[in-house]
Amino acid sequence: MHKDRLVEHFRKFPGIGPKQAERFVYFLMKQNQNFLDNFINNIKELKQYSIKCVECERHTYLSTHNPNEKHICDICSDENRDGATIMIVEKEMDIDSIEKSGIYTGVYFVLGGHLPFLAQDPKEYISIESLTKRIFNKIKNNSLNEIVFALPVSDEGDNEMEYIKKVITQIVGMDKVKISTLARGVSTGLEMEYVDHDTFKYAFDARK
Ligand SMILES: [Zn+2]
Repeated sequence: MHKDRLVEHFRKFPGIGPKQAERFVYFLMKQNQNFLDNFINNIKELKQYSIKCVECERHTYLSTHNPNEKHICDICSDENRDGATIMIVEKEMDIDSIEKSGIYTGVYFVLGGHLPFLAQDPKEYISIESLTKRIFNKIKNNSLNEIVFALPVSDEGDNEMEYIKKVITQIVGMDKVKISTLARGVSTGLEMEYVDHDTFKYAFDARK
């Protein structure tokens, strides 16, 4: 049934359960055609105008569309930032919160997902190949001092971090590079997406 297919779409959204997905579909049913057409067009254009940074894999939304452009985002291209420190995060929203704190001056890498336990093929879930390539290039150019892990504090997050550490140490000799993890302290269950200034400052200053 058509309605069920739509419910399934919404269920794929982060944090949306079956009830909520159904509520969205009933909401759409009540809207007029003009609303629905606008909604569809905005979704269609999203992909055309969003572009991924070739350095950090962060998606940004541009007002103009140039499919041939090799996009480097405003953070990666900012010469005042410390390109020798890379912070590994799961998603773009994490960067937004960390940037708001104004404490971190290095660059980022967005994994673009999280690694479930017993994942058969990790590269289906996270951008591990681009990450190793980026780290490899930075080490080759002698421009990497530290890799900071800012992944979710959970068993799954820890497992993901161990996996990434293993891969990057296997591929590139890591003897000259410091690998650190944000301190956990009081805030177990720390979610980067919702981190506030003080919590991030503590977690970053006390990283080890
Ligand atoms: Zn970037």
